[in-house]
This record gives sequence, C-alpha cells and structure tokens, in this order.
Amino acid sequence: MAENKEHPFRKSLGIGPYSYVGFVEIKLDPRRGTVVTGDTHLKVENGFGTCDHCSHGIMNCYIVRNGEGKLYSVGSECIMKTDADDQYDMDEVVRAVKRKKNAMISAKRQDKAFKARVEAKAWIEANADTLKSMPHPNAYFASQGKTKYDWLMYYLPKNAEEAKHKAGL
Ligand SMILES: [Zn+2]
Repeated sequence: MAENKEHPFRKSLGIGPYSYVGFVEIKLDPRRGTVVTGDTHLKVENGFGTCDHCSHGIMNCYIVRNGEGKLYSVGSECIMKTDADDQYDMDEVVRAVKRKKNAMISAKRQDKAFKARVEAKAWIEANADTLKSMPHPNAYFASQGKTKYDWLMYYLPKNAEEAKHKAGL
C-alpha cells in the first residue's frame, strides 16, 4: 500500500474506495432514437453518456461508487487504466468490467451468427424456384423427389455466401 500515491479517480470522482456497482448501455435505435438500458435506476451524479473521469462520450457506462457513496459513470477504458494502481483494490472492479465486456462480445457474436443464418435462409427462399428444380445431391434422396432446396433448408448454411456456394449458383 503506497499511502502517498493518489488514485487517478481522486480528482474526478472524489475519495475512494471505489467499487463497481452497475452498468448502463446507451444504444442508438433507428426507430426509437437513444435508448438507455441496464441499471438505469442508479442515480449517478452527472447522468450517463459522458465519462466522469476523462469527459469522453461513452456508450458503455460502468457505474462506480466512491467512498462517500456517490455514483459516477466511467468508460471501460478509464476503469481498466486503474488496474495498475495499488492504493485501492480495484481488482474486483476490473474483473467485473472484463466479465461484462466478454459477455457483450459473445452476445454480439451470437447475434451476428444468428443474423447470418437468417440471411442464408432468406437467400434460399429467394432462390427457391431454381433450387427446387435441382436434384438433391444425395442419390437416394434425389430418387425420393428431394431437391437442393430441401438439402439447403436441412443443413441451413452459416451465411448467404455459403448457401450460394453450396447451391453451386
Ligand atoms: Zn474516461
């Protein structure tokens, strides 16, 4: 514990110790405009959208409680920068941020993968007439009257590009 060292949040967020208490995400919805989701019930001193430490605009707002119980919103970069500090134990805060970041990354990946399959399906439907005129690649299923349309719908390619490639179109 270095008693003389000042925590980087001291000047911006007041005295520590600091703890991570919640998360708010600002999203831009094409229909509804700005949407604020997450722990919006937490009353932060200066509102969401601007990092209380560096004043940059932020979409992912990590809510930090200071030693006086006041709540501030800080961007993930600023929270991670405090990792090296040894005056206050920020490990828990940093771990929480990392967990949150990883969860958001995997949610985005899943979302992307899902959208790509929906696009693949849409491509198959859009080309249904052509695909239904092509025999199923398996001779047995082809003899049963199955087509490339049935084959593609069964295997549902990862994306439209793969659907096109598999169809040979
Ligand atoms: Zn910041």
